[in-house]
Amino acid sequence: MTYHLEDQLSAYMDGELTVEERQQVESHLESCESCQVLLEELLSVQSTVIHAFGRIQEPEDLEIRVLQALSDKKERATAEKGWLLVPLAAFVSLVILWFAAGAIFAKVLHGFLKLMIALVYMGSHLLSGVPVLSGLTVLLSLLIITASVYSLRRLLQTSTS
Ligand SMILES: [Zn+2]
Repeated sequence: MTYHLEDQLSAYMDGELTVEERQQVESHLESCESCQVLLEELLSVQSTVIHAFGRIQEPEDLEIRVLQALSDKKERATAEKGWLLVPLAAFVSLVILWFAAGAIFAKVLHGFLKLMIALVYMGSHLLSGVPVLSGLTVLLSLLIITASVYSLRRLLQTSTS
């Protein structure tokens, strides 16, 4: 059985290898078409997930919404001065909580991504004798990742609104 990159490919993508290991991976990639194709697929999955997460973390109109909410509170506060600090403090802690949840979410997502990459890699090499099945496995994994990212986005939006 031919030696493949197995565990090293994910570490290679994350830049966690030593110079020597990196050179080994690169020289294997030069001679192994199967690992080349897989690396490209993994990189595209990774960038899709990172891109999707980037959109969750920083909605374009967040700053406008924060400023609007703050000015709304100020207008109301001129009528009820005593109550200014309560809603403002609540709002600020909500925003802080929102960003803290985002940071935890990023860590969970990174662990999840590594697991998915390992699964895709294992599946692909197990079924590499049957090209059609191998393609189906990768497609199925992409589908699962897309569905997970979508449901996580929905969950995050529901819990913050
Ligand atoms: Zn290989």
